[in-house]
Amino acid sequence: MSVAASNSLDIVHLAGLLKAGKLVAFPTETVYGLGADATNSEAVLGIYEIKGRPRFNPLIVHCADLAMAEKLVEFSPLARRLARFWPGPLTLVLPKKSDARLSDLVTAGLDTVGVRVPAHPLALALIRAAGTPLAGPSANPSGKLSPTTAEQVRKAFHGLVPVLDGGPCTAGVESTILAVAGDAVTQLRAGALPRGEIEMAIGQPIAIASKNAAIAAPGMLASHYAPNARLRLDASAPRPGEAYLAFGPEPANPSGPLRNLSPSGDLREAARNLFSMLHELDALSDAIAVAPIPHSGLGEAINDRLKRAAAPRP
Ligand code: AMP
Ligand code: MG
Repeated sequence: MSVAASNSLDIVHLAGLLKAGKLVAFPTETVYGLGADATNSEAVLGIYEIKGRPRFNPLIVHCADLAMAEKLVEFSPLARRLARFWPGPLTLVLPKKSDARLSDLVTAGLDTVGVRVPAHPLALALIRAAGTPLAGPSANPSGKLSPTTAEQVRKAFHGLVPVLDGGPCTAGVESTILAVAGDAVTQLRAGALPRGEIEMAIGQPIAIASKNAAIAAPGMLASHYAPNARLRLDASAPRPGEAYLAFGPEPANPSGPLRNLSPSGDLREAARNLFSMLHELDALSDAIAVAPIPHSGLGEAINDRLKRAAAPRP
């Protein structure tokens, strides 16, 4: 896909802002990211401040290609095999190089860095034009629903952050996060790249991080991705007063608002629609009932996000 002319003007302008230490939101295949020059502590601090994000929660560093990532982290042969999924929705947590040019705020003081190369032509063009890796968490206030459209980003930050508009995100849920240490691969967060697919590619099983794991990814916080509405999961039908988020068959005469993640029961389509439909129903109702979603493949990430969205708030 080529970068349209109107967008290339945007990109030059927005890359200039990034180089000057400002924040810029950008599209990726997963969700919209809130970008800052990862080498500039002032800029990175701006991310934590505007998101209201706890400082112990490290940021994913977005690179234009493997070569850019290699300047920041050590790639073992196993990590290199995993990097074959790039560009793509996979974040690798790898040992930080001693001479890596990176703000310490990005890693929250850890000696590892979460890096990824996003599969979106506008994201890659922006990183290249800025000439620096971008710290890029999801472009939403901490703990709220992730944005999958430019409009949701503008709303979330009241128009304060410029947004590179790439249309709706194609994957719709965040990247899968893997920590690679020695021969062991551990999944810190389920995401848009299903675990089974990665296991097939590397020919070894991937452990799932326990809640008490030493490197707790804050994506593991119990309440995260929360709408304002109450969520009731595994609901085969809505109760009076509830909106309904269906998957596959729909209830005959719903009394409240209804959205269907995928009428045909396709998990890819469901992942793509998940955050947008939650955003929509959240604006329409105080209570949302959600249909059961299978756990296989992408269902792991979808159910993970739903469970966190439904968890009691701190
Ligand atoms: P977000 O940017 O909101 O999608 O969240 C990024 C996730 O990546 C967080 O849950 C972080 O904990 C995780 N992450 C980023 N860097 C590291 C790291 N060095 N070690 C462990 N987890 C990381
Ligand atoms: Mg996030």
